[in-house]
Amino acid sequence: MADKQSEPPPPVKRYRREEKSSESEEDIDNYEPYVPVRERKKQQLMKLGRLGQVAAEVSAETKSSSDNDPDDETSQEEWGRRYNVSLLDQHSELKRLAEARALSAAERQAREEQHILESVAQSKALMGVAELAKGIQYEEPIKTSWKPPRCILELPPERHDRVRDQLMILVEGEDVPPPIKTFQHMKFPKGILRGLEEKGIKKPTPIQVQGIPAVLMGRDMIGIAFTGSGKTLVFTLPLLLVCIEQEIKMPFIRNEGPYGLIICPSRELAKQTHEIIQHFVKHLKMTGMPEIRSCLAIGGVAVSECMEVVQRGVHIMVATPGRLMDMLDKKMVRLNVCRYLCMDEADRMIDMGFEEDVRTIFSYFTGQRQTLLFSATMPRKIQNFARSALVKPVTVNVGRAGAASLNVRQELEPVKAEARTVHLLQCLQKTPPPVLVFAERKQDVDAIHEYLLLKGLDFANIQHVINYDMPEDIENYVHRIGRTGRAGGEGVATTLLGRAAESSVLKDLVHLLREAGQKVPGFLLEMIGEPDVPAPDGQGCSYCGGLGHRITECPKLEAVQNKQASNIGRRDYLANTAADY
Ligand code: AMP
Repeated sequence: MADKQSEPPPPVKRYRREEKSSESEEDIDNYEPYVPVRERKKQQLMKLGRLGQVAAEVSAETKSSSDNDPDDETSQEEWGRRYNVSLLDQHSELKRLAEARALSAAERQAREEQHILESVAQSKALMGVAELAKGIQYEEPIKTSWKPPRCILELPPERHDRVRDQLMILVEGEDVPPPIKTFQHMKFPKGILRGLEEKGIKKPTPIQVQGIPAVLMGRDMIGIAFTGSGKTLVFTLPLLLVCIEQEIKMPFIRNEGPYGLIICPSRELAKQTHEIIQHFVKHLKMTGMPEIRSCLAIGGVAVSECMEVVQRGVHIMVATPGRLMDMLDKKMVRLNVCRYLCMDEADRMIDMGFEEDVRTIFSYFTGQRQTLLFSATMPRKIQNFARSALVKPVTVNVGRAGAASLNVRQELEPVKAEARTVHLLQCLQKTPPPVLVFAERKQDVDAIHEYLLLKGLDFANIQHVINYDMPEDIENYVHRIGRTGRAGGEGVATTLLGRAAESSVLKDLVHLLREAGQKVPGFLLEMIGEPDVPAPDGQGCSYCGGLGHRITECPKLEAVQNKQASNIGRRDYLANTAADY
């Protein structure tokens, strides 16, 4: 034990105390305060040139510590001072941040607009009940025997693109058929060519150049064309051709048909379309072709008149949704052999509250059909709706959807509400009759009707449309004025503008006038309260096509939503012919 005690102790690891640690006076002078890890990290990042990251952290910090606006310059000044960043670097960084913020604002707006659009898009497919039940999906368009003539087929695709460019035709879709510039090359029978001649129609309009070959080939089609562009012939002539072919192969028997169905939102439109069909039927018959029977299923025409044709076997039915629904419901007519469906002015149809009726009508189909959708305006919600019903559609666009016809001279006149009716008399002097007068409210229509005692307007060749008031949305304005200036003729549209008009629709109007190359009166700019309205941001509203606002401020969408909420229909009343369906 004694030995043990005498042993030296095991070596102890020793550390020399650093001299600095001893607190001399000098040390106190050189005192460096403790810097928290977080701060040190930031300084390190600054050194590494990652200004942006630090700045963002600082701004987040500022934001969380107080409820300051992140755009607040003081926070940015503060980090500049705190981290000793040069003014030049601060400037470039602030610039970068501002740009990033602007971008994200645009992104936010785009996202918000997309969200609104999706919420108003029609999601339910337009299909027959059996198709829905059996999950039938048609993958390929209907096949027809029609082919473009060899002389056209032999032409290179560049020629087709050139023709489309020249005529300002925009197309979308797979294997778009070639545009054809003459009716002769479309291989129409003599009767149709004579019918065209008699109407003074010599060469196809742009929508016809591209649309007719597409429809003749059996393709589904979305046609976006301004009113008066000649779209009616795009869906009537090919239908007549296919009916002739069917009739020659196997004549229609009693109660068979219709083979083709054309649905229109108004009686007026249905009547016009039916008259065009009758015109060509007459000429086909004169050239020895079999008789094509067509009937008109609309309110105001006796059901018995239509049933007489149905009972003989009907090839074509032109209908408004209400009357057609009624006849389908009562099993007076069936769609079991219907293979051709055209919805004219599809957006109007949906706007006027026929959406559910159209859905029901689709449920009566039992086989694949060729489906065509035509409209002067085609908001995205309708395009989505259309796509759910069409198979590999070809979209033919011959003008910005929602643009006004260039053939209409748009005149705007400031008039006080109480002076309107009297002023109307002056406006009526501008052109020879007939003149079409529109008003938003039914009581105004009744008052105007009484005042003017107009009866039995003939709708052909209207040279003048008078808007007694400005419609609530620009789309409606475009539709109204499109009743004149048809077939290349000049038309006049007079709009009486009072204080009641919303500034949003007036802004849309300014852009529409500019787009159509027309004069924007000073009083209109004064009414909006802006001496100059800047050029539209992109394509304007993605809901109604108005160029003066975005979807987030769309008066039309708001009206639709209010309508849905209150379930009260708003209609556009046409003086003298407030249509009932
Ligand atoms: P729509 O757009 O179908 O309502 O047609 C408007 C007017 O244009 C009608 O009066 C037609 O007779 C006329 N029309 C249609 N096609 C042509 C054409 N190719 N050339 C001249 N007028 C036409």
